[in-house]
Amino acid sequence: MEYDIALLPGDGIGNEVVEATIPVLDAASEKFGFEFQTTWYDWGSQRYLQKGEMLPDTAYDQLAEHDAILHGAMGHPDVPDHISSTEGHISIRREFDHYINLRPAILFDSSLTPLKGVETADVNIVWYRENTEGEYIDVGGRLNRGGSTEIALQSSIYTKEGIRRIAKSAFRDAKTRSKKVTNVTKSNALSHGPVFWDEVVEEVSEEFPDVRLENMYVDAANMHLVQRPEDFDVVLSSNLFGDILTDLTAAIVGGLGMTPSANLNPNNDYPGMFEPVHGSAPDIAGDGIANPLATVLSSGLMFDDFGQSSAAAAIREGVEAQVSDETAPKTPDLGGSAKTRDVVDDLVTRF
Ligand code: NAD
Ligand code: MN
Repeated sequence: MEYDIALLPGDGIGNEVVEATIPVLDAASEKFGFEFQTTWYDWGSQRYLQKGEMLPDTAYDQLAEHDAILHGAMGHPDVPDHISSTEGHISIRREFDHYINLRPAILFDSSLTPLKGVETADVNIVWYRENTEGEYIDVGGRLNRGGSTEIALQSSIYTKEGIRRIAKSAFRDAKTRSKKVTNVTKSNALSHGPVFWDEVVEEVSEEFPDVRLENMYVDAANMHLVQRPEDFDVVLSSNLFGDILTDLTAAIVGGLGMTPSANLNPNNDYPGMFEPVHGSAPDIAGDGIANPLATVLSSGLMFDDFGQSSAAAAIREGVEAQVSDETAPKTPDLGGSAKTRDVVDDLVTRF
Protein backbone atom coordinates (compact mmCIF):
# COMPACT_ATOMS: atom_id res chain seq x y z
CA MET A 1 0.00 0.00 0.00
CA GLU A 2 1.28 3.45 -0.85
CA TYR A 3 -0.27 6.66 0.45
CA ASP A 4 0.06 10.02 -1.19
CA ILE A 5 0.14 12.79 1.41
CA ALA A 6 -0.06 16.54 0.75
CA LEU A 7 1.97 18.49 3.30
CA LEU A 8 0.51 21.96 3.85
CA PRO A 9 2.59 23.38 6.67
CA GLY A 10 1.28 26.96 6.40
CA ASP A 11 2.85 29.59 8.63
CA GLY A 12 4.95 29.99 11.76
CA ILE A 13 5.33 26.82 13.81
CA GLY A 14 3.12 25.05 11.24
CA ASN A 15 6.33 24.53 9.26
CA GLU A 16 8.27 23.26 12.26
CA VAL A 17 5.67 20.76 13.45
CA VAL A 18 4.89 19.34 10.00
CA GLU A 19 8.57 18.88 9.23
CA ALA A 20 9.05 17.24 12.62
CA THR A 21 6.28 14.74 11.89
CA ILE A 22 7.96 13.30 8.77
CA PRO A 23 10.41 11.03 10.70
CA VAL A 24 7.40 9.65 12.59
CA LEU A 25 5.68 8.82 9.28
CA ASP A 26 8.90 7.12 8.19
CA ALA A 27 9.11 5.07 11.38
CA ALA A 28 5.45 4.04 11.22
CA SER A 29 5.61 3.05 7.55
CA GLU A 30 8.74 1.00 8.11
CA LYS A 31 7.34 -0.82 11.11
CA PHE A 32 3.89 -1.47 9.66
CA GLY A 33 4.93 -2.23 6.10
CA PHE A 34 3.41 0.47 3.95
CA GLU A 35 4.87 3.21 1.78
CA PHE A 36 4.06 6.84 1.44
CA GLN A 37 5.07 9.81 -0.65
CA THR A 38 4.69 13.47 0.18
CA THR A 39 4.33 16.74 -1.72
CA TRP A 40 5.15 19.95 0.13
CA TYR A 41 2.91 22.98 -0.66
CA ASP A 42 4.31 26.25 0.65
CA TRP A 43 1.02 28.13 0.53
CA GLY A 44 -0.08 30.55 3.21
CA SER A 45 0.60 34.04 4.48
CA GLN A 46 3.97 34.51 2.71
CA ARG A 47 2.19 33.89 -0.56
CA TYR A 48 -0.54 36.34 0.48
CA LEU A 49 2.06 39.02 1.23
CA GLN A 50 3.68 38.51 -2.20
CA LYS A 51 0.71 37.70 -4.44
CA GLY A 52 -2.42 38.73 -2.53
CA GLU A 53 -3.75 35.17 -2.18
CA MET A 54 -3.31 32.49 0.48
CA LEU A 55 -3.83 29.61 -1.98
CA PRO A 56 -3.43 29.45 -5.78
CA ASP A 57 -6.53 28.98 -7.98
CA THR A 58 -5.53 25.37 -8.57
CA ALA A 59 -5.15 24.56 -4.87
CA TYR A 60 -8.27 22.46 -4.40
CA ASP A 61 -7.65 20.48 -7.61
CA GLN A 62 -4.08 19.81 -6.56
CA LEU A 63 -5.02 18.81 -3.00
CA ALA A 64 -7.86 16.60 -4.24
CA GLU A 65 -5.31 14.36 -5.97
CA HIS A 66 -3.86 13.21 -2.64
CA ASP A 67 -5.05 10.65 -0.11
CA ALA A 68 -4.74 13.05 2.82
CA ILE A 69 -3.59 16.55 3.74
CA LEU A 70 -1.35 17.09 6.74
CA HIS A 71 -1.69 20.74 7.70
CA GLY A 72 0.25 22.85 10.21
CA ALA A 73 -1.49 26.16 10.78
CA MET A 74 -2.11 29.45 9.01
CA GLY A 75 -1.79 32.92 10.48
CA HIS A 76 0.82 35.66 10.32
CA PRO A 77 1.14 38.96 12.22
CA ASP A 78 1.16 40.94 8.92
CA VAL A 79 -2.00 39.34 7.50
CA PRO A 80 -5.44 39.94 9.07
CA ASP A 81 -6.40 36.70 10.84
CA HIS A 82 -9.87 36.59 9.28
CA ILE A 83 -8.19 36.47 5.85
CA SER A 84 -5.53 33.87 6.66
CA SER A 85 -8.13 31.58 8.19
CA THR A 86 -11.17 32.00 5.92
CA GLU A 87 -9.09 32.06 2.72
CA GLY A 88 -6.70 29.43 4.06
CA HIS A 89 -7.60 26.29 5.98
CA ILE A 90 -11.28 27.13 6.54
CA SER A 91 -11.77 27.41 2.77
CA ILE A 92 -10.33 23.89 2.35
CA ARG A 93 -12.70 22.46 4.96
CA ARG A 94 -15.56 24.12 3.09
CA GLU A 95 -14.44 23.12 -0.41
CA PHE A 96 -14.09 19.46 0.57
CA ASP A 97 -17.27 19.60 2.67
CA HIS A 98 -15.38 18.37 5.73
CA TYR A 99 -18.40 18.42 7.98
CA ILE A 100 -16.74 16.48 10.80
CA ASN A 101 -14.09 18.15 12.88
CA LEU A 102 -12.96 15.33 15.12
CA ARG A 103 -10.95 16.55 18.09
CA PRO A 104 -9.88 13.95 20.65
CA ALA A 105 -8.48 15.19 23.96
CA ILE A 106 -6.75 12.42 25.88
CA LEU A 107 -4.80 12.89 29.10
CA PHE A 108 -1.70 10.77 28.44
CA ASP A 109 -0.12 11.42 31.83
CA SER A 110 -1.58 12.97 34.98
CA SER A 111 1.44 15.26 35.29
CA LEU A 112 0.19 17.16 32.21
CA THR A 113 -3.11 18.43 33.60
CA PRO A 114 -3.39 21.61 35.64
CA LEU A 115 -6.45 20.12 37.37
CA LYS A 116 -6.05 18.77 40.89
CA GLY A 117 -6.78 15.10 41.49
CA VAL A 118 -7.44 14.25 37.85
CA GLU A 119 -5.89 10.94 36.82
CA THR A 120 -4.81 9.70 33.40
CA ALA A 121 -7.83 7.49 32.85
CA ASP A 122 -10.21 10.32 33.70
CA VAL A 123 -9.95 12.35 30.53
CA ASN A 124 -10.65 10.77 27.17
CA ILE A 125 -12.99 13.09 25.34
CA VAL A 126 -13.80 13.13 21.66
CA TRP A 127 -15.43 16.17 20.14
CA TYR A 128 -17.64 16.11 17.09
CA ARG A 129 -17.58 19.73 16.02
CA GLU A 130 -19.79 20.69 13.07
CA ASN A 131 -17.31 22.15 10.60
CA THR A 132 -19.08 23.59 7.55
CA GLU A 133 -21.95 25.76 8.71
CA GLY A 134 -23.31 27.28 11.93
CA GLU A 135 -21.60 30.45 13.05
CA TYR A 136 -18.63 30.20 10.66
CA ILE A 137 -20.60 30.64 7.48
CA ASP A 138 -19.59 33.78 5.63
CA VAL A 139 -22.95 35.57 5.66
CA GLY A 140 -23.32 39.12 6.87
CA GLY A 141 -22.12 42.57 6.10
CA ARG A 142 -21.44 46.07 7.28
CA LEU A 143 -23.46 49.20 6.64
CA ASN A 144 -22.39 52.84 6.98
CA ARG A 145 -18.77 51.74 7.28
CA GLY A 146 -16.72 54.18 9.34
CA GLY A 147 -19.74 56.32 10.24
CA SER A 148 -21.22 56.86 13.69
CA THR A 149 -24.24 54.76 12.66
CA GLU A 150 -22.21 51.79 11.47
CA ILE A 151 -23.88 48.41 11.80
CA ALA A 152 -22.41 44.92 11.37
CA LEU A 153 -24.52 41.82 10.88
CA GLN A 154 -23.10 38.30 11.22
CA SER A 155 -25.49 35.43 10.54
CA SER A 156 -25.36 31.73 11.23
CA ILE A 157 -26.86 29.00 9.10
CA TYR A 158 -28.05 25.63 10.35
CA THR A 159 -29.48 23.10 7.92
CA LYS A 160 -31.39 19.98 8.84
CA GLU A 161 -29.05 17.76 6.86
CA GLY A 162 -26.00 19.59 8.24
CA ILE A 163 -27.10 18.93 11.82
CA ARG A 164 -28.22 15.36 11.11
CA ARG A 165 -24.97 14.22 9.58
CA ILE A 166 -22.68 15.48 12.36
CA ALA A 167 -25.10 14.24 15.05
CA LYS A 168 -25.16 10.79 13.44
CA SER A 169 -21.37 10.65 13.42
CA ALA A 170 -21.28 11.43 17.13
CA PHE A 171 -23.97 8.88 18.01
CA ARG A 172 -22.33 6.18 15.90
CA ASP A 173 -19.05 6.68 17.71
CA ALA A 174 -20.77 6.80 21.11
CA LYS A 175 -22.19 3.32 20.46
CA THR A 176 -18.64 1.99 20.56
CA ARG A 177 -17.62 4.09 23.56
CA SER A 178 -19.53 5.12 26.71
CA LYS A 179 -22.97 5.20 25.03
CA LYS A 180 -23.51 8.84 25.90
CA VAL A 181 -23.48 11.98 23.75
CA THR A 182 -23.23 15.36 25.43
CA ASN A 183 -24.84 17.95 23.16
CA VAL A 184 -23.38 21.38 23.92
CA THR A 185 -25.90 24.05 22.99
CA LYS A 186 -27.22 27.51 23.79
CA SER A 187 -30.87 27.03 22.98
CA ASN A 188 -31.99 28.96 26.05
CA ALA A 189 -30.77 32.30 24.65
CA LEU A 190 -30.55 31.72 20.88
CA SER A 191 -34.05 30.80 19.91
CA HIS A 192 -33.74 29.96 16.20
CA GLY A 193 -30.58 28.07 15.17
CA PRO A 194 -29.72 26.33 18.45
CA VAL A 195 -33.36 25.41 19.19
CA PHE A 196 -33.53 23.85 15.71
CA TRP A 197 -30.16 22.16 16.36
CA ASP A 198 -31.47 20.57 19.56
CA GLU A 199 -34.66 19.36 17.86
CA VAL A 200 -32.71 17.63 15.08
CA VAL A 201 -30.20 16.13 17.55
CA GLU A 202 -33.15 14.77 19.56
CA GLU A 203 -34.58 13.21 16.37
CA VAL A 204 -31.26 11.58 15.54
CA SER A 205 -30.94 10.29 19.10
CA GLU A 206 -34.16 8.33 18.61
CA GLU A 207 -32.37 6.30 15.94
CA PHE A 208 -29.80 5.28 18.60
CA PRO A 209 -31.89 3.96 21.51
CA ASP A 210 -28.86 2.50 23.30
CA VAL A 211 -27.07 5.88 23.42
CA ARG A 212 -28.07 8.45 26.02
CA LEU A 213 -28.39 12.08 24.96
CA GLU A 214 -27.41 14.69 27.51
CA ASN A 215 -28.04 18.38 26.69
CA MET A 216 -25.81 20.96 28.29
CA TYR A 217 -25.62 24.72 27.83
CA VAL A 218 -22.26 25.89 26.61
CA ASP A 219 -21.64 28.15 29.61
CA ALA A 220 -22.32 25.32 32.04
CA ALA A 221 -20.26 22.91 29.90
CA ASN A 222 -17.36 25.30 30.24
CA MET A 223 -17.52 24.96 34.02
CA HIS A 224 -18.29 21.24 34.19
CA LEU A 225 -15.36 20.40 31.89
CA VAL A 226 -13.02 21.88 34.48
CA GLN A 227 -14.80 20.52 37.53
CA ARG A 228 -15.56 16.98 36.35
CA PRO A 229 -13.94 16.19 32.99
CA GLU A 230 -14.38 12.48 33.68
CA ASP A 231 -18.12 12.82 32.96
CA PHE A 232 -17.51 13.74 29.31
CA ASP A 233 -16.94 11.23 26.55
CA VAL A 234 -18.44 12.01 23.13
CA VAL A 235 -19.29 15.69 22.83
CA LEU A 236 -21.33 17.17 19.98
CA SER A 237 -21.41 20.87 19.19
CA SER A 238 -21.85 23.47 16.52
CA ASN A 239 -18.85 25.11 14.93
CA LEU A 240 -18.18 28.05 17.27
CA PHE A 241 -18.72 26.27 20.59
CA GLY A 242 -16.56 23.37 19.45
CA ASP A 243 -13.77 25.71 18.42
CA ILE A 244 -13.75 27.51 21.75
CA LEU A 245 -14.19 24.56 24.09
CA THR A 246 -11.60 22.37 22.40
CA ASP A 247 -8.92 24.85 23.46
CA LEU A 248 -10.25 24.33 27.01
CA THR A 249 -10.09 20.54 26.70
CA ALA A 250 -6.59 20.99 25.26
CA ALA A 251 -5.61 22.89 28.40
CA ILE A 252 -6.98 20.05 30.53
CA VAL A 253 -4.76 17.48 28.79
CA GLY A 254 -1.54 19.49 28.66
CA GLY A 255 -2.17 22.39 26.29
CA LEU A 256 -2.45 23.05 22.59
CA GLY A 257 0.72 21.09 21.95
CA MET A 258 -1.18 17.89 22.82
CA THR A 259 -4.41 17.96 20.81
CA PRO A 260 -4.84 16.71 17.24
CA SER A 261 -7.75 17.08 14.88
CA ALA A 262 -9.19 15.57 11.72
CA ASN A 263 -11.42 17.26 9.15
CA LEU A 264 -13.43 14.53 7.48
CA ASN A 265 -16.27 13.67 5.17
CA PRO A 266 -16.70 9.89 4.97
CA ASN A 267 -19.36 10.38 2.24
CA ASN A 268 -17.13 11.88 -0.45
CA ASP A 269 -13.80 11.02 -2.06
CA TYR A 270 -11.92 14.14 -1.08
CA PRO A 271 -8.88 13.73 1.16
CA GLY A 272 -9.28 14.33 4.87
CA MET A 273 -7.24 17.14 6.40
CA PHE A 274 -5.32 16.44 9.60
CA GLU A 275 -3.94 19.27 11.72
CA PRO A 276 -3.17 20.24 15.29
CA VAL A 277 -5.86 22.26 17.12
CA HIS A 278 -3.33 25.04 17.67
CA GLY A 279 -2.42 27.96 15.41
CA SER A 280 0.85 29.29 14.03
CA ALA A 281 2.09 30.56 17.44
CA PRO A 282 4.00 33.64 16.22
CA ASP A 283 5.29 34.14 19.79
CA ILE A 284 7.55 31.06 19.52
CA ALA A 285 7.84 30.63 15.72
CA GLY A 286 11.43 30.13 14.58
CA ASP A 287 12.71 29.16 18.03
CA GLY A 288 12.58 25.42 17.33
CA ILE A 289 10.71 24.74 20.57
CA ALA A 290 7.16 24.06 19.33
CA ASN A 291 5.65 20.90 20.70
CA PRO A 292 5.29 18.55 17.69
CA LEU A 293 3.04 16.03 19.47
CA ALA A 294 -0.31 17.57 18.42
CA THR A 295 0.72 17.21 14.78
CA VAL A 296 2.22 13.76 15.36
CA LEU A 297 -1.09 12.70 16.95
CA SER A 298 -2.90 14.23 13.95
CA SER A 299 -0.89 11.93 11.71
CA GLY A 300 -2.21 9.10 13.93
CA LEU A 301 -5.76 10.21 13.05
CA MET A 302 -4.67 10.14 9.40
CA PHE A 303 -3.51 6.53 9.76
CA ASP A 304 -6.86 5.70 11.36
CA ASP A 305 -8.55 7.21 8.31
CA PHE A 306 -6.32 5.08 6.03
CA GLY A 307 -7.39 1.99 7.97
CA GLN A 308 -3.85 1.56 9.36
CA SER A 309 -5.11 1.22 12.90
CA SER A 310 -1.97 -0.50 14.23
CA ALA A 311 0.17 2.43 13.09
CA ALA A 312 -2.32 4.86 14.61
CA ALA A 313 -2.28 3.00 17.93
CA ALA A 314 1.53 2.83 17.89
CA ILE A 315 1.71 6.61 17.53
CA ARG A 316 -0.62 7.17 20.48
CA GLU A 317 1.25 4.60 22.57
CA GLY A 318 4.59 6.15 21.65
CA VAL A 319 3.41 9.59 22.72
CA GLU A 320 1.94 8.19 25.92
CA ALA A 321 5.18 6.39 26.78
CA GLN A 322 7.21 9.48 26.05
CA VAL A 323 5.19 11.99 28.08
CA SER A 324 4.99 9.53 31.00
CA ASP A 325 8.77 9.07 31.01
CA GLU A 326 10.30 11.64 33.36
CA THR A 327 13.65 11.39 31.63
CA ALA A 328 12.31 11.89 28.09
CA PRO A 329 12.87 15.22 26.31
CA LYS A 330 9.91 17.61 26.56
CA THR A 331 9.33 21.02 25.02
CA PRO A 332 8.90 24.09 27.29
CA ASP A 333 5.07 24.05 27.09
CA LEU A 334 5.25 20.67 28.89
CA GLY A 335 7.72 22.00 31.44
CA GLY A 336 10.90 20.79 29.73
CA SER A 337 13.71 22.50 27.88
CA ALA A 338 14.01 20.27 24.82
CA LYS A 339 13.77 21.30 21.18
CA THR A 340 11.12 20.08 18.75
CA ARG A 341 13.75 17.90 17.09
CA ASP A 342 14.82 16.20 20.36
CA VAL A 343 11.25 15.14 21.04
CA VAL A 344 10.92 13.53 17.60
CA ASP A 345 14.35 11.85 17.78
CA ASP A 346 13.27 10.25 21.05
CA LEU A 347 9.80 9.35 19.84
CA VAL A 348 10.97 7.38 16.80
CA THR A 349 13.08 5.15 19.06
CA ARG A 350 9.87 4.07 20.81
CA PHE A 351 8.38 2.37 17.73
P1 NAD B 1 -1.99 29.64 18.85
O1 NAD B 1 -2.58 28.29 18.99
O2 NAD B 1 -1.12 29.87 17.68
O3 NAD B 1 -1.15 30.00 20.17
C1 NAD B 1 -1.73 30.12 21.47
C2 NAD B 1 -0.64 29.90 22.53
O4 NAD B 1 -0.32 28.51 22.59
C3 NAD B 1 0.65 30.64 22.22
O5 NAD B 1 1.22 31.09 23.42
C4 NAD B 1 1.52 29.57 21.60
O6 NAD B 1 2.91 29.78 21.78
C5 NAD B 1 1.06 28.31 22.32
N1 NAD B 1 1.18 27.13 21.44
C6 NAD B 1 0.37 26.81 20.40
N2 NAD B 1 0.79 25.69 19.82
C7 NAD B 1 1.91 25.30 20.48
C8 NAD B 1 2.82 24.20 20.33
N3 NAD B 1 2.68 23.25 19.35
N4 NAD B 1 3.87 24.11 21.18
C9 NAD B 1 4.05 25.02 22.15
N5 NAD B 1 3.22 26.08 22.36
C10 NAD B 1 2.16 26.22 21.52
O7 NAD B 1 -3.24 30.66 18.85
P2 NAD B 1 -3.30 32.26 18.68
O8 NAD B 1 -2.12 32.88 19.36
O9 NAD B 1 -4.67 32.61 19.10
O10 NAD B 1 -3.20 32.50 17.11
C11 NAD B 1 -1.95 32.68 16.43
C12 NAD B 1 -2.23 32.64 14.93
O11 NAD B 1 -2.67 31.33 14.54
C13 NAD B 1 -3.32 33.59 14.46
O12 NAD B 1 -2.91 34.10 13.23
C14 NAD B 1 -4.54 32.71 14.32
O13 NAD B 1 -5.49 33.20 13.42
C15 NAD B 1 -3.90 31.43 13.83
N6 NAD B 1 -4.67 30.20 14.07
C16 NAD B 1 -4.69 29.30 13.06
C17 NAD B 1 -5.31 28.07 13.24
C18 NAD B 1 -5.27 27.08 12.11
O14 NAD B 1 -4.55 27.26 11.15
N7 NAD B 1 -6.01 25.99 12.16
C19 NAD B 1 -5.92 27.78 14.46
C20 NAD B 1 -5.87 28.72 15.50
C21 NAD B 1 -5.22 29.94 15.30
MN1 MN C 1 -9.41 27.30 17.30
